[in-house]
Order: sequence, then C-alpha cells, then structure tokens
Amino acid sequence: MGSTLNRETSLARFRDEEFDLAVIGGGINGAAVARDAAMRGLKVALVERGDFAGATSSRSSKLIHGGFRYLPQGQFRLVYTALRERERLRRVTAPHLVRPIQFLFPVYRGRGFNRFTMSIGLTLYDLFARTPWAEWHSSLNSARVRETEPALSREGLRGGATYFDAWADDARITFENVLDADLHGAAVANYASVEGFVRTGEKSVEPLKGSTPPTVSGDKIAAARVRDLIGGDLCELRAKKFLNAAGPWVDEIRRMDHPASRPSVRLTKGVHLVFARTMLPVREALVLGDEHGRIVFVMPHDRYVLVGTTDTDFSGDPANVATELGDIEYLLGVMAESLPGIKLTARDVASSFAGLRALVTAGEGSESPSKVPREEVILESRAGLITVAGGKLTTHREIAQKLVDRVMKELGKPATRCPTLATPLPGARPLGREADAGDAASLRSIGRDAAEILCARYGTRAPVVARIAAERPELAAPLSRGCPALGAEVVHAIRNEMTHSLHDFLVRRTSLSWRYPVEADSAAPAVAKIMAAELGWDPSREEQELASFKREQARRRVPA
Ligand SMILES: Cc1cc2nc3c(=O)[nH]c(=O)nc-3n(C[C@H](O)[C@H](O)[C@H](O)COP(=O)(O)OP(=O)(O)OC[C@H]3O[C@@H](n4cnc5c(N)ncnc54)[C@H](O)[C@@H]3O)c2cc1C
Repeated sequence: MGSTLNRETSLARFRDEEFDLAVIGGGINGAAVARDAAMRGLKVALVERGDFAGATSSRSSKLIHGGFRYLPQGQFRLVYTALRERERLRRVTAPHLVRPIQFLFPVYRGRGFNRFTMSIGLTLYDLFARTPWAEWHSSLNSARVRETEPALSREGLRGGATYFDAWADDARITFENVLDADLHGAAVANYASVEGFVRTGEKSVEPLKGSTPPTVSGDKIAAARVRDLIGGDLCELRAKKFLNAAGPWVDEIRRMDHPASRPSVRLTKGVHLVFARTMLPVREALVLGDEHGRIVFVMPHDRYVLVGTTDTDFSGDPANVATELGDIEYLLGVMAESLPGIKLTARDVASSFAGLRALVTAGEGSESPSKVPREEVILESRAGLITVAGGKLTTHREIAQKLVDRVMKELGKPATRCPTLATPLPGARPLGREADAGDAASLRSIGRDAAEILCARYGTRAPVVARIAAERPELAAPLSRGCPALGAEVVHAIRNEMTHSLHDFLVRRTSLSWRYPVEADSAAPAVAKIMAAELGWDPSREEQELASFKREQARRRVPA
C-alpha cells in the first residue's frame, strides 16, 4: 500500500527538516491549508494538539450550506461563496461524503420570515447555487405544510417552503484533507502541541546540518516548540512561514508570538442534541424559528434526529465546553412551540455535543451572537505569524486557497492555479498506487451490507478496509447489533488513520457517538478489544480507555 499517515515518521521529520509552511491546528481550516499547500509543492508540516477535527470541526451542524439565514443580514458574498463551494463538494470533490438534504421551512405569523421574504430569499439561494430545476425550492400553502409534516403546530401557520441543501460528516471531511496533505508529502501529526515560538537569532535555533540558516532576519519566528503529547519529547519545528489555525485557541497562539496581542475572536457556544427517532418521530428535516427569529434545525438521520443549535457567548476554558441544562431547555422550548404533540424532556436526550464558534470580534462584542458575521479574518503579526479565524466548514477550501496564495507570494513562489478547485478528495478518486487486483474481489467477498457501510464512509478507498475484513473474516461483522461499523475499520483506523483511542475511532473516524449513540455504547467493548490487540494495550489500559469513553458518553446524555 502507498504512504498513509505515520506519526513517528512525521515527528522525526519535524525534528530533522526545515519546512516552507508549518500549520498549527488540524481542524478543517488547518487541514485544508496543509492539503492545498502540499498539492502546490510546498514542504508542509501540520501539528494538531488533540485528534484531527477534535474541536469545532467535529461539532458543527454538519451542514454544507449557503446559510439561508445570512441573506437578510446582507451577507451575500458569504452565501454566494458557500453555495458555490457546496456544489463543488457535492458534485466534484467529495460526493461520497456530502449528501443532499431537503428541508421544510414552515412560516408562522410573527416569527422570522413571512412567505414573501422567504420566497425571494430562496429564489436568490437557488440562483446563487445554480440549483438544478428538479431541486428548485417550492412554496407551500399551510395545508401542504400540514400534509408534509403533520407534527407541526397549526397555530399561526401561514405556509412555508421546501428547499435543498447538503450535509456531511464534518470530521471525515477534515480527515480526508489531512490524509490528502499526507499523500502529497506533508508531515502531519496529531497529539503534538505547539507550546511556544523561537525567534531568529535566539540561541536555541541551531541551523540544521548541511542547510543554510533561516533566511528571515530580525525578530521573525524561526521555529515552533512542539511537544509530542504521547512520547513526551519536545522538538523545534523549523519553517519559513507559520499559520495559526487553532480555532477557539487562535488568541492563545497569538499570545505565544506576542503576549500583548489583543483578542481577535469572540467565542460563542453551539449545542446540538440527539434524540431517538422513536421519541422525535418527524418525517422531514425542519427549519424551526424561535420567538426572536433564530433558526434551529431538526435533522433526521436514519434512527436518530439531530437538533441544533444554540448561540450564546462563552467565556470559559474552550477545552471544557459542554452541554448545560439551559441549552437543553432552550432547544426543547423551540421544539415544544413548533411540534406541540411531541413531548420531550431532558431525560430523552440520547446524546449531545457542544462546540465553539470563533467569531470575528466586532467592537465591544455587544451584538447578538447570531448577528456577528461568519466570514473569516486573516491577520499577520510583525513576526510573520499568519492567523486565520472564523469561517465555515462549507467554505474551508476557498479559505485555504486564499491563505496558500498569500503564502506562495510571501515565499516568492510563482502563482499557480489552485489544485483543490477540481481535485477530488482521496475517497472520491481512483485508488491508484494503493489498489491491487484483489480489491474489487475483497469488497464483494464481505457481502453487500458490509460493503455498503464501507463505501458510505471511505468512498473509493473502501477496498483498503475490505481487504482487512477479507483476510480476517471475524472482523467483517458489525461491531455490535445494528451498528453500521465493522471490526476491520478499527484495524484500518489504527494502521492508516492515526487513531490512538476509543474516542478517536468512535467520535471522529466514524461519528458513531452522535449518529448511533446507543449502538456506539454497545460497540465500545469490541472496539477496545481490537485496539488492545492491535496496539498491545494491557488489560488495565483497555479498561481505562473503556471507562473514559463511557464517562464521556454519559456526560453527553446528562449534563453536569
Ligand atoms: C455549533 C456550531 C455549528 C456549526 N455548524 C456549521 C455548519 O453546519 N456548516 C458550516 O459550514 N459551518 C458550521 N460551523 C462552523 C465550522 O464548524 C467552523 O468554522 C470550523 O469547524 C472551524 O474550524 P477550525 O479549523 O478553524 O477550528 P477547529 O476545528 O476548532 O480546529 C482548531 C484546532 O487547533 C488545535 N490547536 C489548538 N491549539 C493548538 C496548539 N497549541 N498546538 C496544536 N494544535 C492546536 C485544536 O486542538 C483544534 O483541533 C459551526 C460551528 C459551530 C460551533
């Protein structure tokens, strides 16, 4: 098999080589920049303190969308760009991960949009996206809305509309960007933390053997101190340019560069709840409004329904962001208003997750969080640290393109056409060097259901996992009853996807913890067993891992 992620090799390269670009943060923004830069021939390092997509990029609403609600705020550029990116992802670069979703948007008297403004807004939305006629939005009268979703409240119902958008597994889109950066020669490592910077001229920056000293002069950043959080070693990672894509921690990194840096982002918390579909039996994906016109999405996915999100200012430690009772009450309140026949309580929450938006600070931050622009900002410090903050999952490719154009210019490299405009992510292109003659046969040999599970997650890379299942038939079965993940995926995740813990596998590589929370609980012992065998854990480590995952799952159900 061709090169896939190898942490030890990357850490050794961090120590021994000088890079053109070091990217701090393996969320969607950092991963997309690393991919684009590596594809344009730059020598790239990507350093992630936790797991890839371990923070905001696995806790979004999973929508690949223009953001209809930004139209009344006049954010036309954002909506236009996001819709063009949505179409590119859905049709060209990630069709295996991005799927269409049809929303029903009911209109109520005195709450948010009226039928006229909604119809104008959705026409603009479909025009921006160049939506094919078959997916063009439809305006509905109140009888049609009631017929389409009988669970909706009839009181004050004025009609509504259906329209198409898209959703995706955010953590896997992030991961595929990391993987592609690796496949294009980047050195990438998770569980490696940037702890500080070293300036040119400081004694601890030794020129590498056989290389010229860094060309930058004065007080520019020459290296980052990187701690291997698994092995404990500290090294100096040398690069010509440093990019700070640390999401909610961008200001922490900026302060490592310059302790007096003023805050560049305002953090707001967004909580999502997951319910069993039997408890929340909606037929359609819905857009509900609260009394102030804020939007809450209700999205059925197979046996579960995802509901979110909240948007409240957050001032605590970003590492401890969690669902609180107030968040649950707000979301239950919005649902009780619009879906009066469905009686839900906090006890019915099957799982939840909370993430932080890093919104661009505007003045004193007095505006309501929902009204703060979602567009990214790019800053550069005197020492040469480029920071990217804000943005959206949907627009990650375009944000990366802008950043890499800038880095290429600053490095004096010739301008090139951005390769990510038309290059599919790894799971959407032929396997190439990694394929062998037995691949198609191994996918057939594991049976249709198992093959479908793999194709839905890995696209054209499914045969790489199927080969493991074909060689070890005991790993070709689901991890637990009704769980859409196979034992072979655990082995694959460890060998090829830099997976170190139960959380990495169940939360990020497969998203089982929110998409199938009950099944994830019952699969956890089998995952721990396979991981123990593969990684040589002793029984106490296996138990610790299991206990830690169970604790986290319980916390996702019942807030502290
Ligand atoms: C509730 C919510 C819902 C959202 N819904 C949507 C949606 O439906 N559609 C959409 O398009 N967008 C959505 N977004 C926005 C989108 O999720 C974010 O724009 C995106 O995930 C931000 O990615 P990021 O890479 O900047 O940050 P992150 O994903 O947070 O990544 C930053 C990374 O930096 C790492 N890091 C921090 N410090 C260090 C260090 N010292 N050394 C090394 N690494 C470090 C962190 O561990 C982290 O993994 C949503 C956001 C939220 C919060």
